[in-house]
Amino acid sequence: MVNFVGAGPGAEDLITLRGQRLLSEADVIIYAGSLVNEGLLKYKKSGCAVYNSAYMTLEEVIDVILDAEKNGLNTVRLHTGDPSIYGAIKEQMDILDKNGIEYSVCPGVSSFCAAASALKIEYTLPAVSQTVIISRAEGRTPVPEKEDISLLASHNATMVLFLSAGLAESVAEKLIKGGVSENTPAAVVYKASWEDEKKIVCTVGTLKESVEKAGIKNTALIIVGNVIEGVYERSKLYDPSFTTLFRKGKEQND
Ligand code: SAH
Repeated sequence: MVNFVGAGPGAEDLITLRGQRLLSEADVIIYAGSLVNEGLLKYKKSGCAVYNSAYMTLEEVIDVILDAEKNGLNTVRLHTGDPSIYGAIKEQMDILDKNGIEYSVCPGVSSFCAAASALKIEYTLPAVSQTVIISRAEGRTPVPEKEDISLLASHNATMVLFLSAGLAESVAEKLIKGGVSENTPAAVVYKASWEDEKKIVCTVGTLKESVEKAGIKNTALIIVGNVIEGVYERSKLYDPSFTTLFRKGKEQND
């Protein structure tokens, strides 16, 4: 049995209870060492074999899993954040399917959630944005043409850009090309939830210099949108005059 487990964004206590249990039951752990906090390995049982996939190819990862399966062992494949976001798990699951190997996926707290917590912001504010676009700038991995940042920018929705901190200049250019004003608030969160977390609030116009000044190159998210600082309307859900499934709204006199 193979369990893909979301390790959470970094802090050791931000893995789920289920993820922690699966780690403690694993005979083999293959963790994404470039981003997963090695402190999580303290949950492993004695005798557990540990592999760091930062030094491995897909083929090598699969070989370790197939070998463990042959011996009836439990494997945890530990991915940073939530495995469904830039986790490269599909290619592994497809090979497991071909080999008739059973697996499950345990969700994790994605770094984009930890970044909102670090900034103490809400991504979805009434009358500001009700949409969060998760994307990335094109680097060595191509991005489909229709998902170019300049096109996504036209929605004025909250944007969270993964894997793009080293491309801040081109991100800002594309945002502006797509109609986002230079004064739109932006933020960069480096290693959200880690002890050496850093966060910067700036604008789209000052994004590049802010990232450079802070010396941030990777393990960071760029967040763009008026939800960072801006005027919003209060929620309907908690409005006294609004009826919900659980609460009858009161008539307002004026
Ligand atoms: N599955 C992960 C993302 C993996 S892609 C998740 O759900 O968070 C790797 C990218 O995620 C990094 O380049 C960076 O953009 C982002 N990232 C991962 N952990 C982070 C953290 N603690 N703080 C900020 N960004 C992080």
